[in-house]
Amino acid sequence: MRLKVRLSLYRRSGHYVFSGSAVQKCGGCDLYRNTTQAVFGELETGTKSTKPKVAIMMIGEQPGDHEDKEGRPFVGPAGKLLDKCLEEAEIDRLKVYVTNTVKHFKWEPRGKLRIHKKPNMKEIHACRPWFEAELETVRPKLIVCLGAVAAQSLLGSSFRITQDHGKLQKAGFPPIIATLHPSAILRTRTEEDRHSQMKTICSGFA
Ligand code: SF4
Repeated sequence: MRLKVRLSLYRRSGHYVFSGSAVQKCGGCDLYRNTTQAVFGELETGTKSTKPKVAIMMIGEQPGDHEDKEGRPFVGPAGKLLDKCLEEAEIDRLKVYVTNTVKHFKWEPRGKLRIHKKPNMKEIHACRPWFEAELETVRPKLIVCLGAVAAQSLLGSSFRITQDHGKLQKAGFPPIIATLHPSAILRTRTEEDRHSQMKTICSGFA
C-alpha cells in the first residue's frame, strides 16, 4: 500500500521545515529502527519574515550521522561542502530546499562509529511518498539530484551519473539535473582532485 501524505511548511528559528510529526511515526521500512529520528527537508530563510520562493530542490541520498542526531538535513561535513559549492556557483542558498531520498539514516557499526550504508531499492520505494509530498508542497523550478542514489530514484536505474551528470533531464517532474554528491569531495586524496570534484559538482548546478 502506498502512503499519500500532504505536508505544510512552517517557520522554526530561521528555517522553513515541514511539520514532521507523521514521518516520525513512519514504519514504511525497517530504517526507522536504530536511528534517532527521521530527517525531513529544509529551507533556510535567513532574516526574511515572509515565506521565500524555492527555485531549486536538492535531493541527496539519506541523512548521515550528524543529520540523524540534529534532525536537520545537510548539517554535516557534506552539507558544509554543499554550501561552499552553492557559493561558488553563485546560487542563493535561501532559495534552495534541501532534502534526501530516504528520510532515516541507514548505517552499520564499525567500532564505535556508525558508518553510512547505501539504501536499497525497497527502502527507496517505501520512502517515495514523503518525497512526493515535499515536491507537491515546495514546487521547485528545478530538481538537482546529488549523487547516484537520488538520480536513479528519479531517473531510473539505468542512469549513470558518471556519464550523464550536468545534462538536463525531463521525466514528468520539473526539469532534473544530476551531479555528484558533495561527499565525493571528502573521499579525494589530493588538493587537485578536491578542486576538480568541486568544479564538477558546481557545474551540475548551472
Ligand atoms: S526511511 Fe522512509 S519509509 Fe523507511 S521508515 Fe523512514 S520515513 Fe519511513
